[in-house]
Amino acid sequence: MSKMDHRIPWCTSEDWQGVTRFFHAMTLDLNPALVQVQTLADQIRQAFEALSDPMDVLCNATCMACGDICCKKATIWYDFKDLVYLHFAFGRLPETQIKKVLDKTGTPHCMHFTETGCNLSRLERPFVCTWYLCPTQKQVMTSHEQGPDHTLLETVDHLKMLRHQIESEFCRISAGKPHPKQGKTPCRI
Ligand code: SF4
Ligand code: SF4
Repeated sequence: MSKMDHRIPWCTSEDWQGVTRFFHAMTLDLNPALVQVQTLADQIRQAFEALSDPMDVLCNATCMACGDICCKKATIWYDFKDLVYLHFAFGRLPETQIKKVLDKTGTPHCMHFTETGCNLSRLERPFVCTWYLCPTQKQVMTSHEQGPDHTLLETVDHLKMLRHQIESEFCRISAGKPHPKQGKTPCRI
């Protein structure tokens, strides 16, 4: 197995449509308990909004001159927590699971990567794209005279906690319904 082998859930259009139908059906049930899931999704969205500007400042200071762009190297996808958040925060899932595409030279990169950065708002990116701070970014954060931005780090930790809560709350409510926790056909890229 090469280093490029990964199992990505819901990577086929059939699997993605299946998971989309599942979330749609859950919402149609109008289960009053989903109000708590909705509240958690709103809190996650607010935390992403709070992170958006400071993360953009950090990325502007580091990514423009980066010679080893992580969005080209890494293989990223939406996990189940991302889907629960996105569905309840936006009332829909994205059009597709995140895939890699080839540039003009045949080099793969995330489908959302552009020459000017990510074309998704931070609110709609997989959490890992915000959670991951590369060594350069950590260095920039710790080299500030005032030290690392603890608010930013605390908000990321808060997001982790909210994501666990929304997943367990959603799974508790939807227990008994078949969960599309994994696509039927693992993707290898
Ligand atoms: S986050 Fe780090 S590795 Fe990724 S593009 Fe920016 S500087 Fe480069
Ligand atoms: S979704 Fe955006 S931030 Fe995340 S890997 Fe793709 S281009 Fe990079």
